[in-house]
Amino acid sequence: MSSLEPGFAVAIGIDIGGTNIKVVFIDLRKGNVIDRTILKTSTKSGADIIVTEIATTLATMIRKAKEDGIQVGVVGVGCAGAIDVKKGSVLVSPNLPGWEGFPLQEKLIEILETPVRVFNDVDCIGYAEYRLGSGRELGDFLCIALGTGVGGSLIIGGRVWTTGNTTAGEIGHMTIQPEGEQCLCGNRGCLETLASAGWLIRRAEKHLQQGVSSTLKSCLERTGRLEAESIQQAAQEGDSLARELFNVVGTSLAIAIANVTQLLGIQSVVIAGGLANAWDFFIGPLKKELNPRLTMVRPPEVKVIRSALGQYAGALGAAYLASETEEM
Ligand SMILES: [Zn+2]
Repeated sequence: MSSLEPGFAVAIGIDIGGTNIKVVFIDLRKGNVIDRTILKTSTKSGADIIVTEIATTLATMIRKAKEDGIQVGVVGVGCAGAIDVKKGSVLVSPNLPGWEGFPLQEKLIEILETPVRVFNDVDCIGYAEYRLGSGRELGDFLCIALGTGVGGSLIIGGRVWTTGNTTAGEIGHMTIQPEGEQCLCGNRGCLETLASAGWLIRRAEKHLQQGVSSTLKSCLERTGRLEAESIQQAAQEGDSLARELFNVVGTSLAIAIANVTQLLGIQSVVIAGGLANAWDFFIGPLKKELNPRLTMVRPPEVKVIRSALGQYAGALGAAYLASETEEM
């Protein structure tokens, strides 16, 4: 960082997910990413330990930046789950067990001594896509993030759509199968149980236990566990179980997208998150299922496109949202 001119206004963006934590330092004037890093999330450690670890790492980075004459103006945090954006606390977070009620903003301000704002992680991804990525020319759109879980956000009129103090757009917990499997949130048949990386793995393992023939069996025996990437690889090689699992991802997403677009009249959808890398395997089934369900809008008017920003989208959006959101 020492090569930068001193005095630049810099924001930090953090994206706290169920698997890892991404951090970016951004020069807000130029939109340049100065530095970025990924930390592992051990969800077993609990909120207090994880947040203290993040804050300690960040405090060192902020101190080092200060020595180089770089002032960090604000820290934006995107966190999985429903967030009270006014208080900066976590209300519910199925993929971060034990974080309910955790005063994230208060804890970070205490250690970092820098203004901190907390948002839902997928609101941050959607905002990043609007500012820097696939959403720049779209107008109003729905953003869906396929990660450990499934998150959603609505960008309407250039702003993240919220209701009161809490975030909205939780498409992951929209019921797709009334008698489906029980989601971590408590409901049955949520989109998340059909289209997230976490459930994709769980489903694959369940099918293998039931004796379904697949190349994934040897992968599971060799490594002890499956990853979304290994299921994607199997689909690439033509494995019928892997293909069928991605078929379920696509058709379930299509049902959810049809429901939202017909309700709100939104004509664009951006799909982000790690599982968006399996685009080629679910976009076909998604489009095939989506068009006949769009009975009240003309199918060609609903565009489904892929995120342009990759894995740091949430952290980037958190930094921009924190610096551009009016004082709450
Ligand atoms: Zn759910």
